[in-house]
Amino acid sequence: MRVVLIAKNLPPLNDEKELLKHSFFTFLVDGISRACSHQLVRHRPASYSQQSQRYVAMVNFPYVTPDSVKGKSVYIEGKRLSYEKLMALVGKFYEGLVEQGVPKEDARFVLPNACATRIVFTMNGEELVHFLRLRTCSRAQWEIRDLAVSVLKLLRREVSGLFDRVGPNCYYLGYCTEGKKSCGRPDEVRRYFSTLNEEEENA
Ligand SMILES: Cc1cc2nc3c(=O)[nH]c(=O)nc-3n(C[C@H](O)[C@H](O)[C@H](O)COP(=O)(O)OP(=O)(O)OC[C@H]3O[C@@H](n4cnc5c(N)ncnc54)[C@H](O)[C@@H]3O)c2cc1C
Repeated sequence: MRVVLIAKNLPPLNDEKELLKHSFFTFLVDGISRACSHQLVRHRPASYSQQSQRYVAMVNFPYVTPDSVKGKSVYIEGKRLSYEKLMALVGKFYEGLVEQGVPKEDARFVLPNACATRIVFTMNGEELVHFLRLRTCSRAQWEIRDLAVSVLKLLRREVSGLFDRVGPNCYYLGYCTEGKKSCGRPDEVRRYFSTLNEEEENA
């Protein structure tokens, strides 16, 4: 996954709330799965431009492999099938359809959630705070959490002070809002988010 802050606009306002409301930030995200981009685009007060699967041919399509799947295989009809092998087969099936003249917009129906994508998104500061509170929390799925943490690191590096207190609710509010679904490690999580950029500062 590659995350780049490609544009930002911060008007000269002293009030933090007003500044969050009127500032905007544009990120380029490359190499996330379609499963992850689907979660990202659920956030409504934002603009998105995503690589098209209707017009871009997915030859040798890139894909994301979750750690939990690495090294696993499944026997199907007596044959051992790894994740990598399955992706290669799906890729060949897709390419075979396109070669037979099936439109890319239809051939893509066989592509999996794992298929990697590129997306540009723009949010104002207020929405970014909302997004980061939800998606840096350990309850969020690992890939969108990795994305949210990368976004937060960039914001803390590029926009001095404005996002220092932003993180999951246990860090932002000082208490967990997840009830029974809480990870139960608020101190550890708060420590992590209070020192998020220290590693790279000390490098
Ligand atoms: C841990 C986790 C698990 C999830 N699991 C599921 C799941 O199983 N199934 C599922 O479908 N989704 C799931 N979601 C996605 C979730 O339901 C929301 O779609 C997602 O969080 C984005 O919506 P939002 O309300 O947070 O805010 P955003 O869309 O980011 O909007 C921010 C805020 O703007 C305001 N706003 C935005 N649009 C409107 C509007 N039209 N009218 C009025 N106010 C508006 C609201 O105050 C909103 O809270 C999950 C999200 C998380 C974080």
